[in-house]
Amino acid sequence: MTSHLLICVPPTPNGDLHLGHLSGPYLGCDILARSLRRRGDDVLSVAGIDDNQGYVLRRAMEHNCSPREIAEHYGRRIRATWELGLFQFDLTKSTHGDAEYDDFVRKFFWRLVESGGIVKRRSRSLYDGSGAHHLYQGFIRGACPHCGAPADGNMCEECSRPNEGWDLRDRRPTFPRLGERVEEEERYFIDLNQDDRRRLAAFAAGVRATGDQHAYYRSLLSSDEIPLSAATHVSPWGIALQADAAAPRAVVDVWLEMGAAFLYYPAYAGKDWREYWRGSASKSVFFGYDNSFYVAAMFPHLYAWLDPSLSGPDYLYSNYFLHLEGAKFSTSRNHAIWGADFFASEPVDIGRLYLAYNRPEGAIANFTMTEYTAFKAEMTPAFETLSRLVNAFELSTVQERLVSLAHRPGDHAAFFSSIEDIDKALLPDAFSPRTAARESVSLIRDVTRAAGAAQRTTLDLAAQAAAIVGAISPIAPQIFEKLLLAGDQDRSPMWAVDQRGRIAVAR
Ligand SMILES: [Zn+2]
Repeated sequence: MTSHLLICVPPTPNGDLHLGHLSGPYLGCDILARSLRRRGDDVLSVAGIDDNQGYVLRRAMEHNCSPREIAEHYGRRIRATWELGLFQFDLTKSTHGDAEYDDFVRKFFWRLVESGGIVKRRSRSLYDGSGAHHLYQGFIRGACPHCGAPADGNMCEECSRPNEGWDLRDRRPTFPRLGERVEEEERYFIDLNQDDRRRLAAFAAGVRATGDQHAYYRSLLSSDEIPLSAATHVSPWGIALQADAAAPRAVVDVWLEMGAAFLYYPAYAGKDWREYWRGSASKSVFFGYDNSFYVAAMFPHLYAWLDPSLSGPDYLYSNYFLHLEGAKFSTSRNHAIWGADFFASEPVDIGRLYLAYNRPEGAIANFTMTEYTAFKAEMTPAFETLSRLVNAFELSTVQERLVSLAHRPGDHAAFFSSIEDIDKALLPDAFSPRTAARESVSLIRDVTRAAGAAQRTTLDLAAQAAAIVGAISPIAPQIFEKLLLAGDQDRSPMWAVDQRGRIAVAR
């Protein structure tokens, strides 16, 4: 049995999740997990909650409360949103307040310092006016020193290259009252310009990744100098570098911490993390394009310097931003559709199918209420037709016909070839929920049109409707459970599409 570790870059609990967040890593990870499970593979899917982000501290300062309160409040909201949209993960672990985890992260850090994967450099640092903490992440904003786009401290969302805060052009602190000053000091960094640029090139050549990631590698590896990425910040929030040092000022950079967390996740599920990361398990990561530097370049660097016997990640699935009515989702301007509101009022299957249909794979996508409403108006009766067709006969009769058609499709060869395409688009090598959803919608249209034109419901139409419902079950799980499982979970494999892309005939 093949074993898979599927990881989504964890959300920051400084706000709720909107459709832009949900359509990317979380939908992708949930769909692939469901698809692998239905063919009988062993899957551990993880979406942590990234408590130690500087953005949580910033939100706490805005609300005059503790960062822990913010992390707990939004951590609960995020989990509730996932539940409403049927995003199922085996683990949704928060990173705050776990001494064993903190210890693992510290060991990870010091081991990398020892091996040379983290280096000390004299550099400028940006502090608040009192010198109490660094102005990092959301505490500073300016123009990216590499591409000129508006960026926060440490990372540019546009070109996914790190900065050091002080090098942002026209920079301004988010809280002007804090003031700012630049100091020179020794700090820890991750420097990809060591001999490992070759190593990164080799990793890039071997990893299975979406096209935009290969383009990212080409661009990063051809640049004269890969910018340094800070390994620590002076901050009151995060995992202190020294568990009990007299001056616990420096905390581990939260993205470096995430590199450790990815290794550690299986331990939360009571498994040996080394078995996953040294063994043959397939490791996939789902993330936004803006996280490319960390996930695609920095993590492989860290793992190689930590322990040459570690391997992976094996698959990198990135997505672009989903825009809303032509503009970026924005919490501060309340230009957003919140996942909790959406899934509380919309049909879950159709909402998920639309998010997959319009998923920003390889390019920015745009969500408009007009288009979604039209999609829902077409798909709601179409789903009813699928139900009516399947329910027109005994389930076992439909199933028998489906199995016989799947093996001798005759006039339905094109139909079953499309079912096979959907199946492939829901498996790792050609994974694309967008492709699967588009192909599904086209089949749903064909079958509902044929049903409308037919004098009476034929068994062939019922079998085709069942095949569609089975094929799209990772995207639209509710209709599958209602129609084909009919409360009997054990039946699932009978309806699964097998590895040849055909409907499985036996358990
Ligand atoms: Zn940039």
